Amino acid sequence: MTAPVHPSSSARSTRRLGWLGGTFDPIHLGHLDVARAARAALHLDEVALVPAHHPPHRDPPVAAATARLAMVRLAAATEPWLTVSELELHSDAPSYTMTTLDRLEAAGVDLRALYVITGADAFADIATWKGYPALLDRCHFVVVSRPGHHARDLRDRLPALAARLFTPGESGDRGQPVIFLVDAATAPVSSTGIRAAAAAGTTLTGLVPDAVASYIGTHGLYRGVE
Ligand code: ATP
Ligand code: MG
Repeated sequence: MTAPVHPSSSARSTRRLGWLGGTFDPIHLGHLDVARAARAALHLDEVALVPAHHPPHRDPPVAAATARLAMVRLAAATEPWLTVSELELHSDAPSYTMTTLDRLEAAGVDLRALYVITGADAFADIATWKGYPALLDRCHFVVVSRPGHHARDLRDRLPALAARLFTPGESGDRGQPVIFLVDAATAPVSSTGIRAAAAAGTTLTGLVPDAVASYIGTHGLYRGVE
């Protein structure tokens, strides 16, 4: 690998690193709320935003990878603890978390200090992810509620994992990977809704960071979306 995995991986390997992957087509205020909630609940030093090149289980992104990356960079600039990883963006393979963990480990990242962050809607499908269930033994996961998808409901939806689901306060230090459930209010927005709003020409204020709204307007992104 030629590029660093993310800016500080080699400098401070014991830092608690959050890892928030997504299509980010475009990144929005809900994503930043997720990052903020996970950081606060797990005392993370840094949260890396990780745009996927080709997300598994879904249609290809609408915006080009370069545009999605540019918008993620603009959003990351709003908080000093937010960084951007291009690890998945430059890979032609689908963005499987299992593969990403292999690459992070090979790059010297301490997976015991890694916290993969997802929304509760995405984690509900965890049994379909490549490498399940061994994937869950490799690093911590942080699952944040999304409007309409309470993290705590996963205890019923995923009974096979019930013994491994904890709220941050009750887990203690077990010395093994944990799935943390974080109930936080995040903005009730989705990239799908934002693409529709951009196509309709309605304002994106309050849905995405201001700099991202400007970028979408300046570059005419999502205009042809139906
Ligand atoms: P799309 O509508 O295109 O699926 P999205 O808004 O769901 O986009 P993704 O890039 O698919 O955004 O999501 C990346 C991650 O962020 C996923 O784990 C998802 O569950 C989570 N996420 C996205 N929006 C929210 C939100 N408003 N609240 C909580 N989690 C969210
Ligand atoms: Mg989604």
